Amino acid sequence: MTALYDCITGNHDLKLVFLAAVVCNLAAATSLTLLDHARVNTGKARRLWLLTAALAGGTGIWATHFIAMLAFSPGFASAYDLGLTGLSLMIGVGMTAAGFWIALRPGLPAAAWIGGAQIGLGVGAMHFTGMAAYEVAGRIAWDSGLVLAALAAGAGLGSLALATTLRDGSVRVKVAGAGLMVAGICGLHFTAMAAAVIVPDPSIALSGTAVPAEILAVAVAFASITILLLAFAGLWLHLRDERRSVLEGDRMRGLANAAVEGLVVCDDDRIVTVNDSFADLVGRPAETLGGVVLSDLLDEAVVAGPADAAADAPEAQLRRSDGTSIPVEVIRRVIDFAGRPHAALAVRDLRARKRAEARIAYLAHHDALTGAPNRTSFNDRLAQEIALATAADRPLAVLCADLDRFKEVNDLFGHAAGDALLRSVCAAITGALSPGQMLARLGGDEFAVLAPNVDAAGAEALGEAILAALRQAETGPAGAIAAASLGIAVYPHDGEDAETLMVQADTALYRAKQEGRGRLRFYEARMGVQVRERRQIEHDLRHAVERGEFRVVYQPQTRIDDGEAVGFEALLRWQHPERGNVPPDLFIPISEETGSILAIGEWVLRETCREAASWEKPLRIAVNVSAVQLHAPGFAELVHEILFTSGLTPARLEIEITETALIRDLPRALATLRRIKAMGVRIAMDDFGTGYSSLSNLRAFPFDKIKIDASFTRSVDSSEQAATIVRTVLGLGRGLGLPVLAEGVETTGELAFLGAEACHEAQGYLFGRPGPIDGFRHLTTGRPLAAEDAA
Ligand code: C2E
Ligand code: CA
Ligand code: CA
Repeated sequence: MTALYDCITGNHDLKLVFLAAVVCNLAAATSLTLLDHARVNTGKARRLWLLTAALAGGTGIWATHFIAMLAFSPGFASAYDLGLTGLSLMIGVGMTAAGFWIALRPGLPAAAWIGGAQIGLGVGAMHFTGMAAYEVAGRIAWDSGLVLAALAAGAGLGSLALATTLRDGSVRVKVAGAGLMVAGICGLHFTAMAAAVIVPDPSIALSGTAVPAEILAVAVAFASITILLLAFAGLWLHLRDERRSVLEGDRMRGLANAAVEGLVVCDDDRIVTVNDSFADLVGRPAETLGGVVLSDLLDEAVVAGPADAAADAPEAQLRRSDGTSIPVEVIRRVIDFAGRPHAALAVRDLRARKRAEARIAYLAHHDALTGAPNRTSFNDRLAQEIALATAADRPLAVLCADLDRFKEVNDLFGHAAGDALLRSVCAAITGALSPGQMLARLGGDEFAVLAPNVDAAGAEALGEAILAALRQAETGPAGAIAAASLGIAVYPHDGEDAETLMVQADTALYRAKQEGRGRLRFYEARMGVQVRERRQIEHDLRHAVERGEFRVVYQPQTRIDDGEAVGFEALLRWQHPERGNVPPDLFIPISEETGSILAIGEWVLRETCREAASWEKPLRIAVNVSAVQLHAPGFAELVHEILFTSGLTPARLEIEITETALIRDLPRALATLRRIKAMGVRIAMDDFGTGYSSLSNLRAFPFDKIKIDASFTRSVDSSEQAATIVRTVLGLGRGLGLPVLAEGVETTGELAFLGAEACHEAQGYLFGRPGPIDGFRHLTTGRPLAAEDAA
């Protein structure tokens, strides 16, 4: 030990010893860091890093040796043999490489220990080869004990250093390992130097090829530090790249996890990695899916299907961890993953789409309001059932139902009440059906029932059951004014195909409605003719105004006390090209149902106002206005515009309204009438006595006149009852301050009675039949007919 101490302190230049120590530390730290890096790599990369570690370590150890040799000053000239010096470098690098290689041998017991010892012995081999290259003017004698001690120190500390370094990757362990390695290298070196005793012998001359020690040492230090720094820089760059690729990987994984679709990468059939969406779909954590066989989760056909197929993404069932399956769509591509081709699958959850498709399919076949099948499904089913009935030679009944006065329900109670009524009607009818029978809502308030294997008698029983169910249904106040009518057609009697059957059932329904509310009717052949006729009239009415088929006739209204004409009632006539004169009692109700009364009524108003405005005498003109017109939006504006255009004084226009026109929507009718009245137009209540004859209506509405219906007038002088009614109405008029006009006066007797009862005005055949205005020129001009003729 004293020999070693003396050796270092006595024979060495301490500054150079320090430099050697720095190089040694640097070499140990660099090579062990590189070795650790080699450990975490595999294959080619591991071999490359191992070689780099050995190069850095071997060169560093070798440099340490030579710098320490420079520090060694035996007191006489020394030099180095170039060949042996080179050999010692090769031994240093080679032995270190071998040691590192052994240390990283997988499966070798105590590999790090053996590798470390190998490096220690390598350092020794390098040292003694280097000493052989050392030329000095003397002879070197070796202390064999110290030589052995030097080798033991190198091997032991080397073992310990590598075993420590390779235990784990922490910095603390690496520093300790490097320290032990430095201790091993230095311990060996200085012990070995202490073992060398140089006996001066001036007869020994240095060989000519030897290089002076100083030059060599500086070159060595410079070269080795450069190598070490380069190795370090290489490692640093590599680690930076690695860190970057880790970040890149994290970023890619983040991106994949952000994807809504499930993503799977497979090596053959085995899952390599998945994103969070796929894990969610399967219902398992993503980490547990690596290595799972994909065909355990998806249909074989999809997993093995043709990659990159241009065809649509195939649908498949994805088996979830809870045993259920969900429909998915799979797109498969081949990608390059970790340097090898892998299958990448995008798996899209189809549940939402399937739900939407199911909803669309449902809506396509059902009515959204009531949930009943719609017309489409009814027609489909009817076609099927007819085919079955034909094949089995059995009957089939179709029942068409329609709510009476449904429009009024909507007007009076609002659409919510109308909807509720439709739902309860639907429920009531469904309750009356037997299994196998089908109810459909064809639209609006139209329903149809399909009853397979039901004949006429069965259909009648079913129809009665439906009507009874509807009567008992909880339909609220809306139901009180609505009822249903039924039309029935039976296969094959009434029709052999779906279309005919439906038309016939509809015809029967039409007939049932005409006969009154809440009835059922079977189809009868003659109904078809009547219905077709009515449809023809409906159609013709729509074009009658533009074809100029209408004209207005006028009937005078006369003041009873002095017999003066005070005005005319305008009455509409329809000259049909084939049917001839169609009576208004026939076509007015039809035009009201179809709505063509709006155009017709407007034409009448225009025509009569224009006509009346041309008269010399300012006689009144009374025009009948239907309920449909009164309730149509913009009616008051229309009246205003017509008065303005024609130039007729508003006070000369009188509008005749029946009581039934008012009750449909009282507040609205009242509002419209008030606006018309505000223009100065007069309002007469027509046909008083035939409808509700409600006193409150008379009071509430701004009437200017009451017209007693002709049916009362006609028998006043014969029927005491009629006379009483007329007297009462006249009294009512007096009480309300309203003048009264009696319609349908045909005889002088009737007129005498009315005059005696102080009725104000009269209208009827007695004073003139409705006719063209030219026949009444004496009234409109105030000049007698003869004078007119003479003029
Ligand atoms: P209304 O308003 O009660 O018209 C009076 C009806 O009685 C007219 O029948 C008229 O010709 C008839 N008449 C008049 N005097 C006598 C008589 O002494 N004896 C008999 N038996 N009948 C008489 P018309 O012209 O057939 O009209 C029938 C109904 O058609 C009218 O009844 C009215 O409700 C409706 N109407 C006629 N023209 C129009 C119109 O332009 N618009 C609307 N909305 N309805 C009209
Ligand atoms: Ca009238
Ligand atoms: Ca009337």
